[in-house]
Parts: sequence; structure tokens; C-alpha cells
Amino acid sequence: MNKIKAEIIKYSKKLNIKKLSALRSGNISVRFKDGFLITPSGKKYSTLKDKDIVFVSLLGEFDKKKGVPSSEWKFHQDIYKNKIEAKAIVHAHSTNATAVSNHNKGIPSFHYMVAMAGGHDIKCAKYATFGTRELSKNILRALKGRKACLIANHGQIAFEESLSKAFELAEEVENISLQYITSLKLGKPKILSIKEMKKVLSKAKNYKKDS
Ligand code: 13P
Ligand code: ZN
Repeated sequence: MNKIKAEIIKYSKKLNIKKLSALRSGNISVRFKDGFLITPSGKKYSTLKDKDIVFVSLLGEFDKKKGVPSSEWKFHQDIYKNKIEAKAIVHAHSTNATAVSNHNKGIPSFHYMVAMAGGHDIKCAKYATFGTRELSKNILRALKGRKACLIANHGQIAFEESLSKAFELAEEVENISLQYITSLKLGKPKILSIKEMKKVLSKAKNYKKDS
């Protein structure tokens, strides 16, 4: 368990270092036993210690005496309950993904790398107040057939089979968001067809050669 906690802390700090989420914004979790280990609520990543990482069961139970989990534990809980392939989740307020999300729009197939999120587009979950079950429901809807989505007026979320992969996917979503915003400055970008994106999706399965 301590190894997983150390990994969560390492990647939480990377959220700041890689400028993916400033100060204490965003959160990270890893599936563990019949629940998940998650970053605490409202603590700066630079100060995190093993004891700050909180266990939450899939039933949503946690021991308050052992710390307060992220205010977003509900969407982490719902993703682990509904996506058996999800082993780690990264939520970030990354600048460019958030900028697109503020327009309550997803990202179409303007670039083939959009397929890295699992489909022909990246959807934007409808706005709801942070920490609510309503937000969680909206996120699950946007994650249908996907491993990442934007969250309206908020940021982005990515899950994967490991924390390193989930973090990389969140970085990719941020990169794609920046490219999308830049493309829009030149006018309307050409959108790749669903047929082409299906080809990309089948090739993408064999793309990554390291972890
Ligand atoms: P927490 O510190 O409670 O995880 O909140 C950060 C956040 O991003 C809420 O959406
Ligand atoms: Zn957030």
C-alpha cells in the first residue's frame, strides 16, 4: 500500500511540475483492494505525505479520522464502479483543456491523436457543482466509450490501466487542447471522417511501445 501511496504523491507533484494542475487543484487516485487510494482535499501537493492519502471503499466509505478524501471522491468512485478497466484516475485543471471546457464544447477529430482518448472525439461533461453526484453522472455520460473527457467550466479527467498511463493521457488531452485552440485561430480546421478515425483507432492499439 505504501508503494502506491508513494506513486500517488510522485504524480501529484508532477501535476504541479508539468504545469498540468496548479497548487492544490485536481486530484489523483489508484484502485486498491475493494476501493481506491486518493489524494486528500485541499492540500498542496508539495506538502503531501503518505499519511495524507485516503482509502475510500467502492461503497463510498472512509474513516474521517484518517483524513478527508478529495472533494471529488464521488466521481472517482463511480468511474471505478462502472469501468473495470480503470486502475488509476487523473483529474486536472490544465489550462488549455479548461479553456476549451469553458465553452462547453468537446474536441472533434481535427487531429488523429484525439483517438488516444478512446474514440473519434473527446466529449465535454455537462457542468455541475464540484464534488456532487450530479457532476459524477455527467462525467460518466461523457466517458461512454472513452478514457478521457473535458468537464465544463472545470477541467479534464483521464483514466487508464496504470497511473503512469493515466497521467500521460491527461498530458495528451492538454496537448491536443492547445493544438485545437491554436488551429481555431486560423479558422475552422478540417475534421477527419469517422471512417478515418476508425482506422486510426485500430492502429492506435499497437502504437505505444513502452509503459
Ligand atoms: P480537492 O482538493 O478536494 O481534490 O479539490 C480539487 C479539485 O480539483 C476539485 O474539483
Ligand atoms: Zn477539479
